[in-house]
Amino acid sequence: MSAAQPLPHVSTSPPDHDQQRHDERLSAGLERPAELAPGVLAIFTGRAGGVSAAPYDSLNMGGSVGDDPAAVTANRRLVAQACGLPLGRLTWMHQVHGSAVSYVAAPQPASPAPLPKVDAQFTDVPGLAMVVMVADCAPVLLADPKARVVGAAHAGREGMAAGVITELLTAMSGAGADPAMITAVIGPHICGGCYEVPAEMQARVAAQEPEAACVTRAGTPGIDIRTGIEAQLARAGVQQVTGDPRCTAETPGLYSYRRDGRTGRFAGLIWLSS
Ligand SMILES: [Zn+2]
Repeated sequence: MSAAQPLPHVSTSPPDHDQQRHDERLSAGLERPAELAPGVLAIFTGRAGGVSAAPYDSLNMGGSVGDDPAAVTANRRLVAQACGLPLGRLTWMHQVHGSAVSYVAAPQPASPAPLPKVDAQFTDVPGLAMVVMVADCAPVLLADPKARVVGAAHAGREGMAAGVITELLTAMSGAGADPAMITAVIGPHICGGCYEVPAEMQARVAAQEPEAACVTRAGTPGIDIRTGIEAQLARAGVQQVTGDPRCTAETPGLYSYRRDGRTGRFAGLIWLSS
């Protein structure tokens, strides 16, 4: 490890109770979307309330994880209803753990049209929900309520290291957003205490994002996705960062690929109210 890199830290986040209350509201399954900022609504889905059978039980949003497509469509319709939006106003990505970003100007054509192979999307069109699906990677939602631009990113180990958050912020800024006005929410993901990786993988990720290297609770090399994302947000000038304190691998009410292997995906959604 070079002298320029900080020492790996043990991942712990002290609880902030006011924040936790807000986060619990934002993550309260299908109860209702939360107002993230004036004119901006967001929600993180959970596992409960859907129709999928085990091991996808029950609110699986993922269409390419082996679940019954009819069940996935039914689940997506339930989420759209909870958001007060027609299903066709939810826009989806073909996530590939990269850093490409797409601007969404209109509802997506009905399937089977191919989805864009991107890991972040943003819009300035009211009532179009940007959807990101995860099961250990971090769903990151961004909003500039003044410029009325919102975005969603899929930021796991690879996407975070590749700079997907920075790329999304750059693209949103190009559409008039100001990082100083942006509110960011980092949704549930696997925590650094749980996320053990081989030492060579940690070194490769740390070469791209040094802040993300950590030591797991087992004392082994780890990746702290959240710290990496927070560093990238701070460098870009985003000051308002909130998050959901839950670790997917430690929370039975959330899907975790690391814990369960064959499983579903939960989602983060963000949209401008009309
Ligand atoms: Zn954990």
